[in-house]
Amino acid sequence: DNRKLESLKSMIHDVTVLLSPQAKLKDITIELKVEEHIQINCDRSQIKQVLINLLKNAIEAMEAPGTINITVEDDYETVEISIKDEGPGIPEHILHKLGEPFFTTKQTGTGLGIMITKQILASHQAELDIRQNEKKGSTFQIIFHK
Ligand code: ADP
Ligand code: MG
Repeated sequence: DNRKLESLKSMIHDVTVLLSPQAKLKDITIELKVEEHIQINCDRSQIKQVLINLLKNAIEAMEAPGTINITVEDDYETVEISIKDEGPGIPEHILHKLGEPFFTTKQTGTGLGIMITKQILASHQAELDIRQNEKKGSTFQIIFHK
């Protein structure tokens, strides 16, 4: 396969460059807090696809100008990437539907982004954690096990 040690910072950088025009149109600032040297063993294009899916959803969820925060935490046993938005959050009654094929609340959505994201993460023995922020919006967190 195509797995090797990849720099997280470099992958996140690529993805934010790719989606920054879409963010700019909505006056959304993407803030990164990522240390230089964190690496994970992964298929670069697949994990970039995961990051694109989640960042795109974050941008699409937001109406007004605001900030998306991307942070990475390097722990003893895990590396966690969090993408935090200031959108409406996810109503309790649809939370469990996220990732079902074709489940979308968007007029032109495909409802495939989170499903594909979960598949790619499962093949990397990684997980997706979705939660409501205390104040506003939601946070999608990817958890890699070392
Ligand atoms: P799509 O983006 O095509 O709708 P996804 O699988 O990417 O498909 O997302 C499925 C649904 O999950 C979205 O339609 C939306 O209702 C919800 N969702 C995903 N990300 C967010 C988010 N950051 N904030 C609020 N809702 C979200
Ligand atoms: Mg999507």
